[in-house]
Amino acid sequence: MRRPLLPLLACVLAASCAHVAPTRNPLADWVPSPNLDARRAVVIVLHATEQDSARESLDTLRTANSGGPVSAHYLVGEDGRLYQLVADGERAWHAGGGRWGTITDLNSASIGIEIDNDGSEPYTDAQIAALLRLLDDLTSRLSIPKTQVIAHADLAPTRKRDPGALFPWQRLAEAGYGLWPRGDLRDPPAGVDPWLAMAAIGYPLDDRAAAVRAFHRHYRGRDDGDDPLATFDADDLRILQALAAQRTGLDAVATP
Ligand SMILES: [Zn+2]
Repeated sequence: MRRPLLPLLACVLAASCAHVAPTRNPLADWVPSPNLDARRAVVIVLHATEQDSARESLDTLRTANSGGPVSAHYLVGEDGRLYQLVADGERAWHAGGGRWGTITDLNSASIGIEIDNDGSEPYTDAQIAALLRLLDDLTSRLSIPKTQVIAHADLAPTRKRDPGALFPWQRLAEAGYGLWPRGDLRDPPAGVDPWLAMAAIGYPLDDRAAAVRAFHRHYRGRDDGDDPLATFDADDLRILQALAAQRTGLDAVATP
């Protein structure tokens, strides 16, 4: 009579039994292999908290707030202090719906970093320095490609604008992070399709004007607001050409 209590007691002590997924699939014979490790992220998504303080954001990221529960792996304070809220190997709830290249579930594939910024002020030197230290740690320890550091708005251009047009992407690029045009920019050859270039970089194209607005915030430091007619200019096309060439290893992505 006492033995059935033991698993129950162990369950209570574990305190999180309800969340433990079954290890084994009853459909298959369990023939365990020791050759495994934890799943790892392949993308780092940068956010702005769009709130007034790290304290306020720590509360938002740790409670069931009115808009639904959200979280991130890290928060970078305005003073450069780093907070970790979710372990690197766990799935934080920061990206929501969106797509980057062929990745459709960004929360499962990424590390989310919130940066304490209200969305209208410059980022501080202290927090960018701290962010660079964190990116160095994450990309080396988790083997995440340095070019795979993107904006929340890049993967969800119809819903999000963070970390916004004031985020210093060029400074990150000078430290080796994110995709950034390198070398002399030149006009794309005739027939090059800017949308193929955008898709090669990773942008979702469900709403093309929204994708252009995300591109402008990231690569031109410009906010088009909600302009439904946002489109590329000649400088955009030269930047796109350079980015797509880096991404694909091809000189140009043209429509056949
Ligand atoms: Zn965000």
